Amino acid sequence: MPHYKGSRDPVHTNTAVLTRGFDPVLSVGSARPAVFRSSTYVFSTPEAAERAFAIATGKVQPGEEEKAELIYSRISHPNAEILEDQIVPIEAGATEAAVFNSGMAAIFTAFLTFCRPGQSIVYTQPVYGGTEHLIDDLLASFGITATAVIAGDTAGLEAAIGSASNLRVVFIETPANPTLVMTDIRRAADAGARRRERPLVLVDNTFLGPAFQHPLQLGADLVLYSGTKFLSGFSDMLCGVALARDPQLITAMRSVRILLGNILQPDECWMLDGRLPTVSLRMNRQSKNAQRIAERLVEHPKILKVHYPALFDDAEQIKIRLAQCDFPGSLLSFELRGGRAAAFDLLRNLKICRDAVSLGGVETLACHPRTTTHSTYTPEEADRAGIAEGLVRVSVGIEDWRDLLADLEQALESV
Ligand SMILES: *Cc1c(COP(=O)(O)O)cnc(C)c1O
Repeated sequence: MPHYKGSRDPVHTNTAVLTRGFDPVLSVGSARPAVFRSSTYVFSTPEAAERAFAIATGKVQPGEEEKAELIYSRISHPNAEILEDQIVPIEAGATEAAVFNSGMAAIFTAFLTFCRPGQSIVYTQPVYGGTEHLIDDLLASFGITATAVIAGDTAGLEAAIGSASNLRVVFIETPANPTLVMTDIRRAADAGARRRERPLVLVDNTFLGPAFQHPLQLGADLVLYSGTKFLSGFSDMLCGVALARDPQLITAMRSVRILLGNILQPDECWMLDGRLPTVSLRMNRQSKNAQRIAERLVEHPKILKVHYPALFDDAEQIKIRLAQCDFPGSLLSFELRGGRAAAFDLLRNLKICRDAVSLGGVETLACHPRTTTHSTYTPEEADRAGIAEGLVRVSVGIEDWRDLLADLEQALESV
């Protein structure tokens, strides 16, 4: 089976995503990739089959330009190979990628690949609810202990990284959901590098990547995505991605992926593949829309506070934003003066923005984090994380921002 790769000439990201990783000859001349749904692959010779198994099981290393024949689609399949090749150029500093059937699948596979019983992790809080659950319940039961550091507490994070015993992974989600508090990736990576045994730094880059935040260039080892959000962009599929500078990290994750069977399926790979060339266009438009809306909501008498990176007033947070984010992104949250009742009134009266969790799609969604995405927090934990009763989170889409602002304003009227 020939190699599923297009040009590797150095070109800019927006060109690379359209030219790399797909050879039309291998899809009977089709300008876009075909979907290969086969579960199993026919070998050219028994020797080629033997060689493919030797490489897949790690007995031998493939040659420089050698690509082993495909075996079975839980191991890999053409659409995963095409997607994994095409997604690399959109993450600055990445050399390899692996795709999974959800963001949680990518995160879980990363922990399972890199952590062993007796080792520990340091992570930022709040993190995505599923990740918190994974750390608290499943990883703890496997003997992997965890230290949480509140998002934005750079000194606390450095201290935790410096003092944790058997530290294997530093897991950062920045900006934090739903308050958008930022964690300094560079400082965390530097703190890790000062240890005798350097821990891996993993960043959940779902909120600002791949367009606006580039963790691998700030010293992180692995970037993880819920591709369900901005990468796919239409709220119509689940997927996850891991990308790394060191290809061996991805190879190791693929070995675990074979065991878990959580590779992204061919149809979903094909769908995500078609969305990649517009990720940056969509994210730029969404960020511009969100910034215009956030700047106007600040002045609204019924709003106590707007959380949005372009509106940070804390000097430390501004420093982090300038150092690691190109644009503020399309998530914003605001706290209403009237608490939960006001937030529910607002959500009830929105006409364009829809009341739903998830984010990153071309359509605008709003939700009440305290009773939905963060409902497992105790009231004290929620207060500590800034998830107030009156807080509403909005994921801004690509509609005309003036209509979105008018919709929010008319709903605010009814509060
Ligand atoms: C949605 C999300 C996840 C989980 O991704 P799924 O694709 O739903 O499994 C993880 N991290 C962040 C930041 C998310 O927003």
